[in-house]
Amino acid sequence: MIVQKYGGTSVGSPERIKNVVRRVAKYKAQGHQIVVVVSAMSGETNRLIALAKEMQAQPDPRELDMVVSTGEQVTVGLVSMGLIQEGLKAKSYTGAQVKITTDSAFTKARILSIDEQNIRADLANGYVVVVAGFQGIDKDGNITTLGRGGSDTTGVAIAAALHADECQIYTDVDGVYTTDPRVVPEARRLKSITFEEMLEMASLGSKVLQIRSVEFAGKYKVKLRVLSSFEEEGDGTLITFEEDDKMEQAIISGIAFNRDEAKITVRGVPDKPGIAYQILGPVSEANVDVDMIIQNVGVDGSTDFSFTVHRNEFDKAMDILKNKVQNHIGARDVVGDNKTAKVSVVGVGMRSHVGIASKMFRTLAEEGINIQMISTSEIKISVVIDEKYLELAVRVLHKAFDLDQEPA
Ligand code: ASP
Ligand code: MG
Repeated sequence: MIVQKYGGTSVGSPERIKNVVRRVAKYKAQGHQIVVVVSAMSGETNRLIALAKEMQAQPDPRELDMVVSTGEQVTVGLVSMGLIQEGLKAKSYTGAQVKITTDSAFTKARILSIDEQNIRADLANGYVVVVAGFQGIDKDGNITTLGRGGSDTTGVAIAAALHADECQIYTDVDGVYTTDPRVVPEARRLKSITFEEMLEMASLGSKVLQIRSVEFAGKYKVKLRVLSSFEEEGDGTLITFEEDDKMEQAIISGIAFNRDEAKITVRGVPDKPGIAYQILGPVSEANVDVDMIIQNVGVDGSTDFSFTVHRNEFDKAMDILKNKVQNHIGARDVVGDNKTAKVSVVGVGMRSHVGIASKMFRTLAEEGINIQMISTSEIKISVVIDEKYLELAVRVLHKAFDLDQEPA
């Protein structure tokens, strides 16, 4: 049993939908049971959101979900028609029809349960089942949506509920790469990557899959594969568990980066209990997400406190710190830089190998790139650098860690 999820570009026109139909027919002919999950046609969700905003500058969330969920209702019907035209048995379902029950957090709902009985019965009767991604229904019968890119999560959740053998995510790239090929032409497609690495790569700005779908797949042990819907052949990238023996034996799997970082430093803060909270409390109350945080060792009773925020929220955060925090806590001043970027090396192999950090720092030093901040987790080392060195940093790190070569 295979769940195949097709993104917006894969169903962007009747021609492309016919391509999807051909692939589904091929798998069906091989004897698989197939559930197809689809997104709206590319651009459609944006169009619907823009329409809603013409009625209400801040659309009512319940009504917005009513509107944006329609994109997927169109594609499931079209895909089913295509399959029937090909001589297959096919049936489409909205999220509510399945039913996919979610909480009531409109525009960012979470799936609570999936009633898979109808799907199973249809599959047993030889149907290809086509399910609308991105949508569900709450316990009061309201239509909900799962957040942008949410069809990935629908695909994974259905695969989990059915205990499918594999969830295949068809998209416009042919897999997960060691880094963005637009920055490093030598970037390679990975045959496999672990869930943990994929989560780091996704949260660090590599946008192949919705992060929540990767979390879901990891939690429910769904075998996930990212593939191109525009190529006939190719195994894509398998997202899997470390135990699996097929894993490539590389120490580092990829270089992720994020251009949208801004750095803020509160200088000369009193080194005493409660200061971190007094600095970051007002920032989080204003709903500004804080990423990397560094506090230095205090000297002479005072210290510096630095952190990063999304570039879009830089002005807001600076304003709060200068006007609400600085005098209140007796800090010397607040300085910031919104032309910074974050570069990370990611790999589960770091757990069992030493010297990764020093190699990373040496590589950057050899290019004269100054490291402004450093943070680490078990499987990742991130640095904040001047934005203008981002491409250079990604290129030299990609080379230094031999990512342009197939691992032995
Ligand atoms: N159509 C929705 C969106 O554009 C969901 C998806 O494509 O995954 O975000
Ligand atoms: Mg998508």
